Amino acid sequence: MAIKQYSLKKDGAKQLSPAFRVREFRCRDGTDTILIDEGLVVLLQCIREHFGKPVTITSGYRTASHNTRVGGSRSSQHLLGRAADIQVQDTDPLAVAAYVESLMPGWGGVGRYPVKAGRAKGWVHVDTRPNKSRWTL
Ligand SMILES: [Zn+2]
Repeated sequence: MAIKQYSLKKDGAKQLSPAFRVREFRCRDGTDTILIDEGLVVLLQCIREHFGKPVTITSGYRTASHNTRVGGSRSSQHLLGRAADIQVQDTDPLAVAAYVESLMPGWGGVGRYPVKAGRAKGWVHVDTRPNKSRWTL
């Protein structure tokens, strides 16, 4: 699987899989360039089909400056186009994380951000790094 580069202006409407278009992975600072790992799209499409509900990407590719602004780690997989923070409609983030775990038991990153006081909606961070990384915040 490879990391592909797209232009928001030229490729934004391009369908990457049945449920995801290029623009959903854009950096929220408006940057035209978007990096997207093909393997990440496969994972997200699996999640979409497993739960049968819309998957919203709240953060996909990030430029270095945007990553700093949102408090991302310096080695964030979002900088490489390999990570997405997602919410599945009407679904507990911990249930989403458990399913992702079953897809990549020995590799990849899964960050659990469950619903808690002061956080109305939880989310799950998913990335396609070759090694295994797990955390809960
Ligand atoms: Zn993330």
